[in-house]
Amino acid sequence: MSKKVILTGLRANNDLHLGNYLGALLPMVELQKKYAGQYQINLFVPDLHSFTTPIDHSKLYEQTMHNLKLFVAAGLDLDDQDTFIYRQSYIPAHSELTVILNSFTYMGELSRMTQFKEKSEKQDSVSAGLFDYPVLMAADILLYGAKYVPVGADQTQHVELARDIAIRMNNKFGDLFALPEPEKEQIAFAHQQTRLRIRDLADPTKKMNKSDDSGKGVIFLGDSPEEAAKKVMSATTDSLGKVAHDYEKQPGISNLLDIYEALGGDTKEFIGNEQYGPLKQAVAVKVKEFLTHFQSRQTKVDQVKLTAQLESSEKAMNNTAGATLLKVQKVVGLRAK
Ligand code: AMP
Repeated sequence: MSKKVILTGLRANNDLHLGNYLGALLPMVELQKKYAGQYQINLFVPDLHSFTTPIDHSKLYEQTMHNLKLFVAAGLDLDDQDTFIYRQSYIPAHSELTVILNSFTYMGELSRMTQFKEKSEKQDSVSAGLFDYPVLMAADILLYGAKYVPVGADQTQHVELARDIAIRMNNKFGDLFALPEPEKEQIAFAHQQTRLRIRDLADPTKKMNKSDDSGKGVIFLGDSPEEAAKKVMSATTDSLGKVAHDYEKQPGISNLLDIYEALGGDTKEFIGNEQYGPLKQAVAVKVKEFLTHFQSRQTKVDQVKLTAQLESSEKAMNNTAGATLLKVQKVVGLRAK
């Protein structure tokens, strides 16, 4: 019997930052370490999802390839037989299934998606692509019969929608799609992964985000280690004068403690200190060391091997996805039975 599938993706429409590394890249690598052998792991770059909100298209392709390289630099094992890495747009079945699923998805359902509401509020004009994002995501999941799709709280609703669409189509057409696990199980599964929320260094009340205009509070993975250390040294703290882990009263200090811990530091020695300087200094050193090491690992990534692995994964996933698509095309009447 084939292994159950865990599916996870990371969009490539931006320069990745320390929050992406600690909150998405590392958890993916940990996921592989923990579950390979037991599950099949589909790790993909949802490049078609990238421009549901406006981006610089001249950078997308390179950005996609660069992010794949970052996966490997972060520790992804390319030799693992149970891991498939691929680019969404290289498997045309994603787009084709989306068009079919669209006719079995209701406007009301899509209008209720929190992520759509939030993202569309921030824009002058909203694309149909953004509205349809969850249907493309449903295709991403259903093509491979993925059981688990570890996502943040902002996306659990999308996984639930994929399940609803699959149940609806199974009711109409018989046993068509394997169902992703229900919300409760998805949340329990996602909770087993360490999911950190790194905050902006300049404004620690919000999360570190690439769309921050100044970039002062964001440590990009491509920043020079010295530049990043400077950003840490000028991080916003507070005037309470005691190092403590308290997101409410001391978000800046708590963030620095989180970063230090996540990069392998031991925060115990700083708790209770009346000076913030030594903590800042220690975090700056850690961040500098981390970036130096990570950037050096990037230069060592075997690009030939990565491309070969990508192409063979894409071939295999085209077969799997193509088989699911054909099943759907037959039941909806697009192909002979
Ligand atoms: P985004 O490109 O902002 O949608 O983020 C892509 C992934 O990175 C998501 O899985 C997020 O959970 C993760 N991520 C983004 N920002 C942060 C952050 N500040 N701290 C932790 N994880 C983050």
